[in-house]
Amino acid sequence: MTKILLADPLDKEALEELKSIPVFEVTLKTGMDEAELVKTIPDYEVIVVRSATKVTRKVIEAATNLKLIIRAGIGLDNIDVEAAKEKQIEVANTPAATSISVAELTLGLMIAVARNLGRAYQSMKEHKWEKKVLSGTELYGKILGIIGFGRIGQEVAKRALALGMKVIAYDIIEVKTDLPVDLVSFDDLLKQADIITLHVPLTKETKYLLSKPQFEKMKKGVIIVNAARGGVVEEKALLEALNSGQVRAAALDVFEKEPPVDFSLIDHPNVFATPHIGAAAEEGQRRAGMEVVKILKQKYFSS
Ligand code: NAD
Repeated sequence: MTKILLADPLDKEALEELKSIPVFEVTLKTGMDEAELVKTIPDYEVIVVRSATKVTRKVIEAATNLKLIIRAGIGLDNIDVEAAKEKQIEVANTPAATSISVAELTLGLMIAVARNLGRAYQSMKEHKWEKKVLSGTELYGKILGIIGFGRIGQEVAKRALALGMKVIAYDIIEVKTDLPVDLVSFDDLLKQADIITLHVPLTKETKYLLSKPQFEKMKKGVIIVNAARGGVVEEKALLEALNSGQVRAAALDVFEKEPPVDFSLIDHPNVFATPHIGAAAEEGQRRAGMEVVKILKQKYFSS
């Protein structure tokens, strides 16, 4: 029997399929902190997480039977990959499963800030009719700057092009694409874009990729969208740029600390915020769950 710990929720159908495989003993136990996980992990050969559970060095050191860590999703920033490597524990993820879910949310965030949907929604719920003060701007004809032109960045580009936006993109690697997108330098993107959206992983190099010096280079009144990771935008600098009007509005799905403890950025009237729901569409979660099943079947039945 292979003992598998699901430390974060998995799609229902994927869970049923896993449970139906007789050689897998599946336990669903979510919401564990580090101390509880340290106590629980020695029993298991596989742990499956999404973004909530942190597989820290301490957890990995306590994991005497662990052979495989699966992240249902893409970002590995909640897993100490180095510590896993040292113990020869394999780390797998499902990188493409939720790209469309995140891309669609990004478009939703862009439309929400451009048309003031957050404030319009809130004021209607307060039984007000603020038609005159809630005018916004179109996306049509605007320049969208995409930082990080990988899977999600390219899905965002396709959708933005369909809305009649002009798309420019910057990536650290040379990306080949058939899309009518201008690949530009980081500085040119900052200077030219009306809306900037980030789709990079959080690494040492991307931490605070957008901070005070970068905001100063942007067009006055730029819109910032971040559905990548908190920490790629410096929240303090973003709040200052919103207060000065250098940034007109921001839409954020991710935060430096989740759940946030300091709400001063979220409370800003020109910030539209969602609680890290980019990948949380049913279809994306189903794809991620089914890929987890596939990874497990390949590992345990392929020989
Ligand atoms: P990807 O690997 O396909 O693309 C990321 C791109 O960023 C790559 O092309 C890479 O070269 C580029 N990049 C890396 N460092 C860079 C830098 N310093 N400057 C410019 N470009 C750089 O990944 P993806 O599937 O498109 O996902 C992107 C990110 O989206 C993930 O790493 C994750 O952090 C985030 N994400 C968020 C959610 C959510 O729920 N909001 C869900 C899934 C993924």
